[in-house]
Amino acid sequence: MSRPIYLDCNATTPVDPQVLSAMLPFFTDYFGNPSSLNHSYGWEAEASVGQARKILAEVIAADPVEIVFTSGATEANNLAIKGVAESYMSTGRHLITVQTEHSAVLEPCRYLETLGFEITYLSVQPDGLVELQALADAFRPDTILVSVMTANNEIGVLQPIKKIGEMCRERGVLFHTDAAQAVGKIPLNVDKMHIDLLSMTAHKLYGPKGIGALYVRRKNPRVQISPQLHGGGQERGIRSGTLYPPQIVGFGEAVRLAVAEMETETQRLKSLRDRLWQHLQAIPGIYLNGHPTRRLPNNLNISFDGIDGNALLLEIRDAIAISSGSACSSLKAAPSHVIQSLGRSHDQAKATLRFGLGRHTSLEEIERAATIVRQAVRSQRQTATEIAV
Ligand SMILES: *Cc1c(COP(=O)(O)O)cnc(C)c1O
Repeated sequence: MSRPIYLDCNATTPVDPQVLSAMLPFFTDYFGNPSSLNHSYGWEAEASVGQARKILAEVIAADPVEIVFTSGATEANNLAIKGVAESYMSTGRHLITVQTEHSAVLEPCRYLETLGFEITYLSVQPDGLVELQALADAFRPDTILVSVMTANNEIGVLQPIKKIGEMCRERGVLFHTDAAQAVGKIPLNVDKMHIDLLSMTAHKLYGPKGIGALYVRRKNPRVQISPQLHGGGQERGIRSGTLYPPQIVGFGEAVRLAVAEMETETQRLKSLRDRLWQHLQAIPGIYLNGHPTRRLPNNLNISFDGIDGNALLLEIRDAIAISSGSACSSLKAAPSHVIQSLGRSHDQAKATLRFGLGRHTSLEEIERAATIVRQAVRSQRQTATEIAV
């Protein structure tokens, strides 16, 4: 039996073969420790890590020294939020974030609450966008950090990051954004957008899992951040631990490829995604989740009326690899907090499908997936009517 059509690229993506070939020599030939500055093995590794650091800095218009490598976006978010909270707690103990953030932002915030910090969790409008007036009203004299994601991992919505950055800068409050879904997909500029901290990860853009980075602004203002791992003092003391050159080199190569094809790939994915939605729209009782245009080109998220979400997923999972919410929420089997924040009912939130298209996705796969979903919805509704009768 052939494998299901993979449409879960907001959960993870395959490693691009070009990325893999860039990584391989660093496991065996160039295995040096980038911190070993007494011999050429160390220098080789350090030079390649530096090259990747430069690519990552360029994609967000930062300086290479402002990039701190981490194990992924979860660690980058934890470092940003807990690291700032710890450094600035004598200035204030209030943070602002949004209800639809990834759990890697919400959970560090909840942890800070147990330490006596206060968090405002902003609600979103029905289209998933933050209301700027609500943000303006949430600032307090003791606010130290605002954390709002660039692109949502479930509904793909793009938040007004530049405006939020301006509002934070005017008030002298630090601004962090989780850009795990956005890097390499939309243009980003930490200066123009007034971003002070930015989280990224390689595996959402055809790089390996287990590597990410945090951008930490070094001037205007210089962000103070308390390390969450103590040890050898790598990454300017912000994140100790031996650097992992194969992963770092792969991350750099993945970003380089994504940037090179950003414009053409955006157009291609958008037109495939819109085609999918065109097909599915014909189903009665279907809703698009999130703003129709202010969203990632590769994401489509829909809910249905009168369908058992689990039964629907069971019916299609041999044919299409897809999820109902984030990979983390399918772990918990609870209806998505993001979909519920949009004002959808508990049942609608359970009857939700997230399509994440990718570099490998073809028109033929999209046509096939649309047909499978339409048939599955029809058969689910038929079953429901038969039971009711
Ligand atoms: C995937 C993802 C994360 C987690 O990243 P890891 O590198 O898997 O830890 C965090 N935030 C968002 C928005 C994501 O999409």
